[in-house]
Amino acid sequence: MRRESTNRRGRGVRPFRWKEPALSTVTAPARFALFPLRVARTLSLTPHLVRITLTGESLTGFVNGGLDQRIKLLLPLAGQTEPLIPPGDGDFGWYHSWREMSPEVRPVLRTYTVRGRRREPDEIDIDIAVHGDAGPGSRWAVRAAPGDRVAVYGPAVEQAGGVEFTLPADPGWVLLAGDESALPAIAAILEELPEDLPVRVFAEVDGPGEEAYLSPGRAGVETVWIHRRDGAPGLTEAVRAAELPGGRPYAWIAGEAAGVRELRRHLVGERGMDRRAVCFMGYWRAGRTEDQRGEDGPEEEA
Ligand SMILES: Cc1cc2nc3c(=O)[nH]c(=O)nc-3n(C[C@H](O)[C@H](O)[C@H](O)COP(=O)(O)OP(=O)(O)OC[C@H]3O[C@@H](n4cnc5c(N)ncnc54)[C@H](O)[C@@H]3O)c2cc1C
Repeated sequence: MRRESTNRRGRGVRPFRWKEPALSTVTAPARFALFPLRVARTLSLTPHLVRITLTGESLTGFVNGGLDQRIKLLLPLAGQTEPLIPPGDGDFGWYHSWREMSPEVRPVLRTYTVRGRRREPDEIDIDIAVHGDAGPGSRWAVRAAPGDRVAVYGPAVEQAGGVEFTLPADPGWVLLAGDESALPAIAAILEELPEDLPVRVFAEVDGPGEEAYLSPGRAGVETVWIHRRDGAPGLTEAVRAAELPGGRPYAWIAGEAAGVRELRRHLVGERGMDRRAVCFMGYWRAGRTEDQRGEDGPEEEA
């Protein structure tokens, strides 16, 4: 079905047609591209994490950078069966068109991590922390079903960007910390770390049911699970109470912005870690939607 829409300045916005167009029509000679995809299947992994597997012909051009590779998911609005894709090239042209689209037709934009990527058939997995109906991303994930249409803005060339985890040469050990929203990145990072590198994971989750997400564990990885009491976070307290290994650490922290900021302050201010060796990102902010955070400033700022 073709839809016509108008942006705020009255210009027509090209409707998105789900013909899974040839790659040349969705990519530009750019580092990133918009990939029209459909849900292949969903899998409930834990009480709060659901895996959405996406597929589509355009995925042949998707080049996963691994580790904590981020992508943007473009979701249809309520009443739409597919997102209207703004025109523009693969890097940022489309984003300006997206901002100019009328809110009545503009697709929801949410940031997630590539948890897995397979060939033959081309598929990617996105693991989404569901938190009820509070946000369109969570709402969509809970209801997603095979055949549902979305688009992904993701890497189209090697080393496109959107990967923050940067292991320094010769690290002594690695600290990974975060909540449910960070677990997909933590799991993907763990898969790529050398087997002989000691790793401490601090995972703050709703309850014991979430622990299955990182099971079975890997040799050399010690995981501390922190269960939120009455919704109160406790990541920093858990790290503060822990005896950490000696040697030069590299830390990666993501999750709710205030908790991330607090833990970083502890690691740098109280533990004396080199601030350049602490990678930290506010993945979401309590009481703020991703759209509001976009208006606040860079989404990664904790
Ligand atoms: C680089 C990056 C990578 C990310 N990777 C992942 C990922 O792989 N998986 C994943 O699940 N999330 C990931 N996130 C976080 C995700 O983008 C946010 O949680 C996003 O706000 C979810 O959108 P929403 O529509 O569900 O909620 P929004 O509409 O953005 O927010 C609605 C309400 O829900 C609250 N909220 C938002 N997220 C959460 C949450 N996780 N738990 C509890 N309350 C929340 C907000 O504070 C707000 O009050 C990532 C974020 C970034 C920046």
